[in-house]
Parts: sequence; structure tokens; C-alpha cells
Amino acid sequence: MVPFVDLRPQYETIKQEVDEAISQVVSRGNFVLGSEVSDFEQAFCRLTGTKHGIGVGSGLDALRLTLAALRVGAGDEVIVPANTYIATALAVSSTGARPVFVDCEPATYNIDHSRIQSAISAKTRAIIPVHLTGQPADMNPILEIADQRGLTVIEDACQAHGASYHKQACGSLGRAGCFSFYPGKNLGAFGDGGLITTDDDELAGRLRQLRNYGQRVKYEHVVIGVNSRLDTIQAAVLAVKLRYLDKWNEARRRHAAQYRRALEGVGDIRLQSLAPNSTHIYHLYVIETEKRDELQQHLNQHGIQTGIHYPIPVHLQEAYSALGYRRGGFPVAEKLAKTMLSLPMFPELSNDQIEHVVSSVRQWFGS
Ligand SMILES: *Cc1c(COP(=O)(O)O)cnc(C)c1O
Repeated sequence: MVPFVDLRPQYETIKQEVDEAISQVVSRGNFVLGSEVSDFEQAFCRLTGTKHGIGVGSGLDALRLTLAALRVGAGDEVIVPANTYIATALAVSSTGARPVFVDCEPATYNIDHSRIQSAISAKTRAIIPVHLTGQPADMNPILEIADQRGLTVIEDACQAHGASYHKQACGSLGRAGCFSFYPGKNLGAFGDGGLITTDDDELAGRLRQLRNYGQRVKYEHVVIGVNSRLDTIQAAVLAVKLRYLDKWNEARRRHAAQYRRALEGVGDIRLQSLAPNSTHIYHLYVIETEKRDELQQHLNQHGIQTGIHYPIPVHLQEAYSALGYRRGGFPVAEKLAKTMLSLPMFPELSNDQIEHVVSSVRQWFGS
């Protein structure tokens, strides 16, 4: 049996430290915005090399509060990739602005920067590239377009904790970087959590107010805020796990290399292209095949769990039917939705488990 993701073996390796960190918060009783939150924010900034880190309730909130802090709202448009988790688009919609989708590159699955210019209108305010699967989007041309057209770039780094582009950490490349600590992410809490990284003092200040009822000091509310604070218990857990992130990402990279060596040239399998000058941290290990559903079923019968990220592209989701996008609008994202299969990937995967996956794949293709 090979699970797609198994969080238990990781907990076993850090149980003592994590349990101790949790019990300290419980015994102090400082459950909301305790010192563990600012300690973790600072530690996370050392990972990304940014000046500020603002812990919030989820990755979706990191994105939507950043947009709100930049005063993006009704009448505005924000460019997002068609191939992403729906949260990227939901963040835009939640502000009242309109998500405008752009197709992705067939080789890397990330936003195709050559298609961004034609999606820009007089209403466009921002671009949200997503570092999908843990591989950085090609940021230099995106930043250049944004600069030329006076747009803000917000990174959706929810799958990219510790990934880097030209030796610069994801989350430090745009005006702000948005992270999720959903349990299955490379850095995962024991529940929901998120964080925004930025070098912009003013933006950081606004985000700190927005996440905490819009208050400047207690009972003095200067903007219409929300309640979306990173939990102290989650921050304490994350601070322990952050110390292991590099090691865990290295393990993922080793597993990916092992998959790549064993699956290159098998059947009609296509592997994700690796962008130059980037460090991919393999939140997901994705392969493509025309016979995706049959292969998934075969693997399932051999006790191997896989995932599909994502079966319905965002522009074709029922929730977005009012935007008027049609099938055929973003052919690359639509094709990937039919051909992509995510193989088991988590740091504690064993050699034997990976061997079982690759031999089952090879067996099905008769090679
Ligand atoms: C997980 C994820 C989000 C949302 O994060 P949550 O913490 O679940 O709200 C946003 N964008 C991408 C690309 C994600 O993978």
C-alpha cells in the first residue's frame, strides 16, 4: 500500500518537539497572537529573505487580504493562471474584482507569460503567478510586463515553501508572496494557516491591521478588517517543522529524481520540464499520459494512491459559469486536466514504495 500523502510518519519523527511546543502554548494560555506567532513570522522571513511576514488564517486569506490591502476591488481585473487550485481565483472574486485567466505552458504547467500582454486591459491591477507543483513560475518576464504596464505582482507560493528562482526565494520575487500551511503542503500545520511575505513596510502594516479586525490598537479600528490570524498553536507547530523543511524538500527532490530516472521514455509518459535556474521542491510529482484514467485505476488496484491536480480547470468550474468562459478557451490547461496524474510524494516515502510505484507503472505500459 502506497498512500498519496501520509502525514503520520513525519509526526513520529518530531513528536517530542511538537508536543512540547503545543503544551507550552496551552500552559501559557496565549492562544491568539501569542509570541510564537511573531517568532514564527520572523523565522519564516529568514527562509524567504523578506523583511516582513504576516501570519493569517489560510492561504486563501493570505491572497485575498493582500489584494484587499492593495485596494483591489469591484471594477478591477486580476490575471491568474487557468491551471491552478481554485483558491487563486476565489481570492480575486472575494474582493469584488474579476479574475482574468491566462493559459499555462505545456512543459512546466505554469502561467504562459507570452499570453499575459493580451489579457491586460485598462482595468487590470495585478498578476498572480502560481508556482505550481513547487516549481517557480518564470518570474523575470512577468515582472517585466508588470513593470511596463504598472501592475502589481503577487506570488501564489502556496505550493512553493523553500523553492527558489535564480537563487531568490519564492515569496520574495513579487510585491508580496502568499503561503498556505494546509496540512498537506510542504510546510503544513495541524490545521489551517497562511502567511504573507513582503518587503513593503506600508503593505505589511495594512495586512497586520486587516487580519485583526482592522485595528490599530485595541478598540481603535481604522479599516474594515476581518478575523484571520495565524493560530498560536499552529505557529508553534510550524516553528518546529520549519527547522526540517530543507531536509524534507531535499528528500522530495531525491524521490523526484528517482521517479524521473525510472519513468523517462516509458510508454507515452511525458514528464514535467524543469525550468533552468530554479529549485523545484516537488509539492507534487506529476506525469502526463493520454491513458491517465486507466493508469490511475491500475495503480489503485495495486494499492497505489494517486491524485489529479486538477480535474476541472478553474474557468470551467460551475462557480465561474457567469464569467462566460467556454470549453476550448484555454486548451493547454484543459488538456492537462485530462492527462495529468500526481504520483505519491512526501518526504518519508521509502525506496521500496517508489520502486513499487514505478514498477507498477512500467508493468502497465508493458515495458
Ligand atoms: C493550497 C493552495 C491555496 C489555498 O491555501 P489554503 O490554505 O488551503 O487556503 C491557494 N493556492 C494554491 C496554489 C494552493 O495550492
